[in-house]
Amino acid sequence: MKIAIASGKGGTGKTTIATNLASTISHFGMKVQYLDCDAEELNGHIFLKPKIESSEDVTVGVPEVDQEKCTGCGKCGQLCQYSAITCVKGKVLVFEELCHSCGGCMAICPEDAIIEKQRKIGVAEFGKSNGIDFGHGKLNIGAIQTPALIRYVKKKAIDDGLTILDVPPGTSCPVIEAIKGSDFVLLVTEPTPFGLNDLELAVGMVRELKLPFAVAINRSDIGDDAVAKYCQKENIEVQLEIPNDRTVAEAYSRGIMMVDVLPEYKEKFLNLWEQIRSQKAVK
Ligand code: SF4
Ligand code: SF4
Repeated sequence: MKIAIASGKGGTGKTTIATNLASTISHFGMKVQYLDCDAEELNGHIFLKPKIESSEDVTVGVPEVDQEKCTGCGKCGQLCQYSAITCVKGKVLVFEELCHSCGGCMAICPEDAIIEKQRKIGVAEFGKSNGIDFGHGKLNIGAIQTPALIRYVKKKAIDDGLTILDVPPGTSCPVIEAIKGSDFVLLVTEPTPFGLNDLELAVGMVRELKLPFAVAINRSDIGDDAVAKYCQKENIEVQLEIPNDRTVAEAYSRGIMMVDVLPEYKEKFLNLWEQIRSQKAVK
């Protein structure tokens, strides 16, 4: 089973819930894997402190032009939607960092003058953390192909246990790539106008993808009840509420997990897992 922990906005406590859920499930003896897909802002490793056992370069295909064969017709530049390849005064220039590896320019070139070469966009690291299989993808600074890196990391999802995917915030392409193929999505939010606004967007996204989902409200006793009312109106199950707690905040700032400072939270996360497993949530 694959559970995606997502949120419409950053800073809602998505990683807190993902790591504590993984830790709790592992504590109770189940095989669990945590994959941090928030490639532009990795922080799951800060809490899980994995021992990294392998590191793999992640590359994507980008065009390389054989200037000998090129006639300067300009068709490649006309096709590219990202201005990653352009023909100036009969000479083709490639801006690899803008390329989305669609392969269009290679397909259209009438002279077969474009070949594909590999460009490194980041690394995927895998290891162990207290019985949890750990993985994350680190995007190189300036690289934009986050979905390709997420795809690579997700290929390592285990078949015979539970995989928890820590999804990037928002509703853009990397988020879709991360939650695609999940069995369940938990949307983490907070009870503020911003939290509600971004939750509505995230709900629209998971409904479009027809994935079962529910909501978790972090710092549930701050702000107002607009998120709770919205969930009630939309018939969305709220499966977890975490009140604001100074002990949790202090532990977070030191990279310590909630279940390690407040062991009673293990029961809450176990209960969350049971709810998800029973698939009570609505589509
Ligand atoms: S399409 Fe091919 S031949 Fe035409 S400009 Fe591009 S690389 Fe050169
Ligand atoms: S592979 Fe696609 S995105 Fe990259 S340069 Fe060619 S047409 Fe543009």
